[in-house]
Amino acid sequence: MNTPVPINIERMEHIKRIEFDRPRVNIPGSTIAGSTLSVDHAWAKVFTEPNPAERIELKARIKRLLKEQNAVLVAHYYVHPDLQDLAEETGGCVSDSLEMARFGSNHPAQTVVVCGVRFMGETAKILNPEKRVLMPELEAECSLDLGCPPDEFAAFCDAHPDRTVVVYANTSAAVKARADWMVTSSIGLKIVAHLHAQGKKIIWAPDRHLGGYIQTQTGGDMLLWQGSCLVHDEFKTAELIELRKQHPNAKLLVHPEAPASIVALADVVGSTTQIIKAAQTLDATEFIVATDKGIFHKMKSAAPGKNFIEAPTAGNSATCKSCAQCPWMAMNGLANLALVLENGKNEIQVDPLVGLRAKQSIQRMLDFAQGLNLTQGQTQIPIITQAPGTSEHGIGPA
Ligand code: SF4
Repeated sequence: MNTPVPINIERMEHIKRIEFDRPRVNIPGSTIAGSTLSVDHAWAKVFTEPNPAERIELKARIKRLLKEQNAVLVAHYYVHPDLQDLAEETGGCVSDSLEMARFGSNHPAQTVVVCGVRFMGETAKILNPEKRVLMPELEAECSLDLGCPPDEFAAFCDAHPDRTVVVYANTSAAVKARADWMVTSSIGLKIVAHLHAQGKKIIWAPDRHLGGYIQTQTGGDMLLWQGSCLVHDEFKTAELIELRKQHPNAKLLVHPEAPASIVALADVVGSTTQIIKAAQTLDATEFIVATDKGIFHKMKSAAPGKNFIEAPTAGNSATCKSCAQCPWMAMNGLANLALVLENGKNEIQVDPLVGLRAKQSIQRMLDFAQGLNLTQGQTQIPIITQAPGTSEHGIGPA
């Protein structure tokens, strides 16, 4: 047998600096969650693409290692097309964050390899504490998660003990553990409406845009944490209006983490899964898409022959931070995936007590869905909204 060539990760990477909005809670007892925003800094590793020979060798190596390790690969729609293809070719899945975790739960493999960002690995571990969960890169962050530090969030919750705490899936295990409910965005709307009907007041975290959308739809009394996704935050309204003029027949598909001014223009507001479905089912051949462009790979295979256009992320003089590509999702590559399968490092660890508490907030959502007679796959409930030109609207997990 040939000796495997050592993987030289350092040769393939350099560091990218990232700026993101960081909510601050600096007024004790404030009724404005994350009442001020400041620019904070993070970093991501950027990989050089492997050359064609390296690519073939790495893919073959990963396939062999997955079998040897009794491991299954689950990948998010935003990661590199090579990883999405590998997940499907090897019996894994490509999906949104919650379905990734569910797939790992239902699959018999004892090792789940998560290609995504850290909160996704944590959610997989919370739902599968007995399994080994590996990630190509443990430092793949998310600006929503980074913008909601557990200690500051807990202090804010403590200052408002009369409020029910509802958090989005894009949060750390510790924040989920502090919450009463973890929700995906669409069931979040139903849950907030349910809590509102019971007269409950709510703390919502961390995405201010999604929270604002739910608040508008339900009329709930919600304190919104002021986090945002640096990818979706960057879509530009004026430039998008101009682009639509150039493509008058194109349907506009928008993820609800985008600002309200972008959502207001949408034909369809939906989760990653629902955006893909809309591309398949809508009677249009051209789509403008306002979410991470990693999703185009799946959209093109799901709706062949249709044309997909990126929504603009930079104004005339501005420069984009993400250019519609999440810098942390991009930290997942063939080389570090092969390496983690070889050395077993980068295992996700969640403190068992934190995991247990976080699981309760997730379970509450799943039980609620079951009470509505929704199966797991239907927690992404389509929601009719009033956005213009609508033929189908719905929101779900990232
Ligand atoms: S795309 Fe946005 S929400 Fe998704 S992981 Fe990246 S920063 Fe987080």
